[in-house]
Amino acid sequence: MSTVSELLSQAVAQLKQNESQADDANADAGLLLGHVLQKSSAWLMTWPTKEVSDFDANYFLKLVSKREGGTPLAYLLGEWGFMDFMLKVGPGVLVPRPETELLVELAAERVPQAANWKILDLGTGSGAIATALARLRPNSRIHAIERSQDAADIAQSNFDSLAPSVKLHWGSWFEPLATSDQFEIIVSNPPYIAEYELELEYLTEEPQEALVAAEDGLADIAHIVENSRPHLKESGWLLIEHGYGQGDAAQKLFTDAGFKDVETVLDLNSLPRVTLGRWNP
Ligand code: GLN
Repeated sequence: MSTVSELLSQAVAQLKQNESQADDANADAGLLLGHVLQKSSAWLMTWPTKEVSDFDANYFLKLVSKREGGTPLAYLLGEWGFMDFMLKVGPGVLVPRPETELLVELAAERVPQAANWKILDLGTGSGAIATALARLRPNSRIHAIERSQDAADIAQSNFDSLAPSVKLHWGSWFEPLATSDQFEIIVSNPPYIAEYELELEYLTEEPQEALVAAEDGLADIAHIVENSRPHLKESGWLLIEHGYGQGDAAQKLFTDAGFKDVETVLDLNSLPRVTLGRWNP
């Protein structure tokens, strides 16, 4: 049998073989062993000489090999933090990114606490945005749409445990809506990476349909801007996350479509990340 510290050293040495992950080797090894043993990182530090059963050790080393091969840590842990909660995640969904918290905050700050507004999250994926909005604004009615069945299953399971009031609809963008369905706020983190972007080399494990869009990455943003108009109430807001190089293009799509008060907001890294506008104010 191996001890906690022996297993961690073995894992760190293995993870460092993959250069792109070397910086995270210590943290990843600790999180994976903690996950297998159901213990905190503080426990691992306190008990370096504790023996780990061969069964647990083998499972841990299998996860380490997958991580070394490029599987996102979030998929191996089966859950990932977003805002102040843990979401279930898996190979069918994009792992929630910290910059998407900006989109949630910008949407939430437009909704009065007591208001009973209708809010729509398009392409909800794991359900991160809809869950966060339901928790921040429990008096509002949150709807989420998702096209991928795998993602919809994960989203529904997150709504069941974290935000049971969210209503999930299955389909592509606005398809599941009736013509008369209107919202005070529509939000989306659509795919926005162009097919030729080099960063896709590092994103091979996540669903490409959640990442890549045609027309320089702008096709889905353009579709949403165009088709959201009949589904926005008077003075309703549309907020869309995009790539840091797409701020000007997104603003043009919004203004050409007739949106007012159009603005692009910078994320924590001071990069243009969310464009928003108002319909018929
Ligand atoms: N922000 C993600 C990334 O760059 C992309 C998410 C998206 O396309 N919506 O990894």
